[in-house]
Amino acid sequence: MIAKLIEQLLRELGENPKREGLERTPERVEKAFRYLTSGYDRDVKDVLNDAMFVEEYDEMEIVKDIDFSSLCEHHLLPFVGKVHIAYMPNRKIVGLSKIPRLVDVFSRRLQVQERLTTQIANSLNEILEPRGVAVVMEAVHLCMLVRGVEKQNSKAVTSAMLGAFRDRPETRAEFMELIKPGQGLHI
Ligand SMILES: [Zn+2]
Repeated sequence: MIAKLIEQLLRELGENPKREGLERTPERVEKAFRYLTSGYDRDVKDVLNDAMFVEEYDEMEIVKDIDFSSLCEHHLLPFVGKVHIAYMPNRKIVGLSKIPRLVDVFSRRLQVQERLTTQIANSLNEILEPRGVAVVMEAVHLCMLVRGVEKQNSKAVTSAMLGAFRDRPETRAEFMELIKPGQGLHI
């Protein structure tokens, strides 16, 4: 069905959808859009539940520089960037490799960056019931880039701070320091 619509779209654009280069484009676009919106079929709980365990560890856990891409719901064009996530555990810990998969659940939907940031923070907050959650996202929006709305390299930065990260400036400052480019291990 999406393929049919794309064929129509090509016609509306004044193209010939039957010419060689475009012949398989409708199918490819359908596949791409199915993939880019596959997060609708996934549930955060399914991603995290089998990876949670109880541990008496109460220091900040951080996963930084997680690559993500999402689709801007205003233009259906991608925005692409990095997300940094931290939480202060309250007995419940999640395998760190699951955090990027949690990001995928929400990023593979039609989004605005602000909502994406909040959804990631809120879902971690609900599931892990930690003492705090912090999410910072920085992204380049193709809809801005191609229309020259902003300088070519400008990034949109959004953040969501919950619990200790909202209430304790020193906790927030520690997180912000750790996610600075060039901080931490380089492997
Ligand atoms: Zn847009």
